[in-house]
Amino acid sequence: MSKQPVYVVMNAGSSSLKFSVFEPHGETEELSSILNGQISGIGEQAKFVVKDANRTVLAKHTWSQEESACRDTLLQYVLTWIENAGDYEIVAAGHRVVHGGKHITRPVQVTPAVLAELDALTPLAPLHQPHNLAPIRLLAEKKPGLAQVACFDTAFHSTQPWVARTFALPRSLTEEGVCSYGFHGLSYEYVTQTLLTGRTDLADARIVICHLGNGSSLCAVKNGRSVDTTMGFTALDGVPMGTRTGSIDPGVIIYLMREKKMDLESVEDLLYRQSGLLGISGISNDMKVLQESDNAEARQAVDLFCFRVAKEVAAMASTMGGLDVLVFTAGIGENSPEIRANISERLEWLGVKLCDKANVESRYYISAHDSKVPVFVVPTNEELMIAKHAQAILSPAVGHA
Ligand code: ADP
Repeated sequence: MSKQPVYVVMNAGSSSLKFSVFEPHGETEELSSILNGQISGIGEQAKFVVKDANRTVLAKHTWSQEESACRDTLLQYVLTWIENAGDYEIVAAGHRVVHGGKHITRPVQVTPAVLAELDALTPLAPLHQPHNLAPIRLLAEKKPGLAQVACFDTAFHSTQPWVARTFALPRSLTEEGVCSYGFHGLSYEYVTQTLLTGRTDLADARIVICHLGNGSSLCAVKNGRSVDTTMGFTALDGVPMGTRTGSIDPGVIIYLMREKKMDLESVEDLLYRQSGLLGISGISNDMKVLQESDNAEARQAVDLFCFRVAKEVAAMASTMGGLDVLVFTAGIGENSPEIRANISERLEWLGVKLCDKANVESRYYISAHDSKVPVFVVPTNEELMIAKHAQAILSPAVGHA
């Protein structure tokens, strides 16, 4: 009997590798997730865990410290585990890659030339791009015939107008690529597709999507396309996040360097890892922990987060000349009625009114019947979006992306 073809999706970070396996079903070859797993603690004490679609743990493994540094060994373990799990044949790998730069504005099949182009974008995302590319390179060595597709966090935003993409810097810098790219694009693409499928009445709606997770951003979507977003040149911009500042006056950085004698590394560490919810609360970067705390600083951190998200919803609405639909997604957006209520109350003047019961139950449709703006909770699924892109590129006849 022939093996069951599957798509593997990989999302590689500095110390983790998340993976998902999708199986095509039926005549339309619709994809469903069959396995989800990750290796955490790469470089220190690497641990492997994999779960089935019902979140039942199927296997665990811990490596020695020496093995934990060898990405090659770890990746090989994942591949072998997947192929033995159910007589599967990996037909393609889809990868989340943070940056496609100015020119790569859609998913692409990876060739040596594409890989070189993506490598050259490392200065734009030095903390992410090399880690995203590492498994692509390893897989190309280990399974030379395997089709690999790279999907980009920036690509969905390539439709933005010049005014939304441009910083008020000298033109020469803009032309060099110092401009706003935006991130979380695979999430916005998935949420937009989910929301608009079968809803021709919403096709030209002015939609604001709030992707609120560890990393958070907002996107203005009009006619199904991104027209503005809060993250910019890097994933630091916009609303405060778990440990990242979001937008701050750039003069603060000059002050820190001049008066506090902070060097590049310590400024980077401050902005990326010591700020946001963690910095304000002094307790945690985790929204759930802060919401469950009675501590005054924790309450302030939650409140500042909601204030800034609401402010950015208004900015996104301004870009589109109004707001027709509001959407919450990602860890906080999907799971926290308190945060959704806090943000929505600040947007009453824009016509946003929640139904308390629907909100507390985290239903799909959570606005009150007399809300001028319908509000939705749409669970995101970046992995499925990547798998769909890989399928669409490799089997255009059946692809659903
Ligand atoms: P990432 O950006 O790493 O993908 P997620 O989208 O998973 O992150 O979001 C993680 C965030 O979601 C954390 O701050 C976590 O506390 C928050 N979160 C998850 N569940 C809840 C909940 N029930 N209430 C409040 N916050 C929650």
